[in-house]
Amino acid sequence: MKVRQIDQAEFENSFVEELPGETAADKRPRQVPGYCYSRVDPTPVRDPHLLAWSDDLAGFLGLARPEERGPAVDALAGNLVTPSMKPFAARYGGHQFGTWAGQLGDGRAISLGEIEACDGSFWEIQLKGSGLTPYSRRADGRAVLRSSLREFLCSEAMHHLGVPTTRALSLVGTGETVIRDMFYSGDPRPEKGAVVARVAPTFIRFGNFEMMAASGELENLRALADYVLRHHYPELGEPSEDVYLRWFEEVCRRTAVMIARWMTVGFVHGVMNTDNMSILGVTIDYGPYGWLEPYDPDWTPNTTDFGMRRYAFGQQPGVAQWNLAMLARALSLLVPDGEALGQGLEQYRATLSDTYHALMLEKLGLTPLHQEDDPALIQDLHQCLADSEMDMTLFFRNLSHTAPGLVADTRDDDRSHRGLIEAASYIGWERGDHSGLLQWLHRYGQRLRQESAGAETIRESMLRANPKYVLRNYLAQKAIEGAEAGDLSYLETLMNVLKTPYAEQPERDALAAKRPDWARDKPGCATLSCSS
Ligand code: AMP
Ligand code: MG
Repeated sequence: MKVRQIDQAEFENSFVEELPGETAADKRPRQVPGYCYSRVDPTPVRDPHLLAWSDDLAGFLGLARPEERGPAVDALAGNLVTPSMKPFAARYGGHQFGTWAGQLGDGRAISLGEIEACDGSFWEIQLKGSGLTPYSRRADGRAVLRSSLREFLCSEAMHHLGVPTTRALSLVGTGETVIRDMFYSGDPRPEKGAVVARVAPTFIRFGNFEMMAASGELENLRALADYVLRHHYPELGEPSEDVYLRWFEEVCRRTAVMIARWMTVGFVHGVMNTDNMSILGVTIDYGPYGWLEPYDPDWTPNTTDFGMRRYAFGQQPGVAQWNLAMLARALSLLVPDGEALGQGLEQYRATLSDTYHALMLEKLGLTPLHQEDDPALIQDLHQCLADSEMDMTLFFRNLSHTAPGLVADTRDDDRSHRGLIEAASYIGWERGDHSGLLQWLHRYGQRLRQESAGAETIRESMLRANPKYVLRNYLAQKAIEGAEAGDLSYLETLMNVLKTPYAEQPERDALAAKRPDWARDKPGCATLSCSS
């Protein structure tokens, strides 16, 4: 395949051509009954310039890295619409914090169409922050640099961690400012604007189906389902009532795998509304997300959710199931036996439990020997980690180094456990009561000695399962502060390190460090809002 610049790429427009949409005469916010999308062009920005680029994704898509300014960057900012693009904003709704919110839609995201990747698959390119659409409601259709950079960095980091996710191709500065009240505290200020080009096979969400069901648009509901089946689940065959059921089961299965991955890397999405759930079972819409540092199932970075904690770390498995139940309710209009959709939810629970268990065994360097006792061993670890305020990433990474010692020689156990706790606990060795974790570590040591593999093999497999580098909240914040001041070096360093998060990269040790004290309560590090 010939490598080309994005403004030279041929776009397909399957979403626009195969689904009913309107041509938006203007961008005034409104209800758009009867349609799956509105055709609308991005609003040009003053001075588009490239800030960051994912070489990895670009390589897969056969795209050449553009210069800082020029036609390719214009296309990535929405300033240049090439002849084969048919830009559109999708219409969807959603349950926000448990309540049906009606029509939402792409209020600041505009898709340009799909391009072919080097393996022959097609990927939708969507610009986020590209100006008003009929779905902008009362907002401006723009995005600030801070939130765009967070989305750009995290989607690529998640991909390299092995978590199913949408991708990000570029981060473009707009040369314009956007007014935001970062914490809704009555203190709006101008911030730098940016546009992220994000990439996925499709950005269709649970909310697209819910929208059609809620407004009784059965034909559109069916058209959307058939479109998704045709393009994204072709292996399930021609659409039929039975195929809809199997498709829902597959969505449930994939969602379960995604959630199991989140739970084992310590990712908190922050706003798991049904409009932020991808029909492909990939992580979508990076807003006030965060990484668990002190292990705490009740933790969320999202200030909007501080009261309810509906989307806190430990709630994610249950919330995803609730969201799938909302999707099932919408899809029940397509199958006569709505009850049968319950099997999908069953599939969700089973896959989540199996996948989570398998991933945790890998993290602990164990093979499935003890079907009876291992679930309790894993279950009991949560409380111990929480009681000792252990840094989730550091605990597992450091354990990968010390666990093989437990196999070889038990004499050093106590010293090694103490070292582990000193290095990874936020309350330290002296101030906390670590007896629970110490007992657990002894129990784990006994279990590990039942493995037949040697110490080195166990170490290597644990290092492959426990990342050293994740996008800690304070690291993202430092990249933002640099970029806002015009210095992209920290962002670039982070991007490079996060490409191989399981590799040791000793020269980058500092980026694997426990959250420093200054970041504990700092806005952007400990707390984030939906303002973006
Ligand atoms: P989110 O909380 O980012 O998932 O957004 C929820 C809804 O609000 C979606 O319909 C978004 O498109 C819309 N939205 C969020 N921010 C903006 C904005 N700055 N301009 C227009 N619409 C927005
Ligand atoms: Mg969203």
